[in-house]
Amino acid sequence: MLKPYCLIVALLVSSMLIAAPQLHSNNSDKQSEPAQQSHLHGTAQLTLALEGNALEISFESPAANIVGFEHKATDEKQIKVVKQAKQKLQAADLFSFSGSDCSLKKTEIDMSSVIEEGHQHNDREGHSEISANYRYECSTGEKLETVSVNLMSRFPAVKTLEVRWLTYRQQGATKLKAQSNLIRIR
Ligand SMILES: [Zn+2]
Repeated sequence: MLKPYCLIVALLVSSMLIAAPQLHSNNSDKQSEPAQQSHLHGTAQLTLALEGNALEISFESPAANIVGFEHKATDEKQIKVVKQAKQKLQAADLFSFSGSDCSLKKTEIDMSSVIEEGHQHNDREGHSEISANYRYECSTGEKLETVSVNLMSRFPAVKTLEVRWLTYRQQGATKLKAQSNLIRIR
């Protein structure tokens, strides 16, 4: 069941890369890293794919926007910051909906770039990302009208959220700010 939605998200992300070549000015070698998204502090990406009643939301952000640093947490204070950020990313009210009720079924938060999580990762120099995936089940997906995103009020360092969304009917793109956090999908 999961695979078709992963495919949709993958297609969506690749269409974003094609549609937004100007975002890659700091990554001239696009061929070697086709999946690499732009990394601009203050900006993060959100993709939504609605298929039937299943809504898949993917969030990707520079770690600096979420925890204030982009290296592995080295002391108790930083570890606490990472844990608190993870709790905020797991909050059930991070997204709210109109037109249809949608309930959160699955959350996957990847903060491995800023904390050791069981298996060791190679420490990379430079920037790092945090990603989160949410799977919602909606009561009547075709009636879903808006998704309001509460990420920016929880993570004020995210100044701009670049959104791409896709339903069976249409697709669109928008940029959200803290004071305008509504995605209208129909
Ligand atoms: Zn960075």
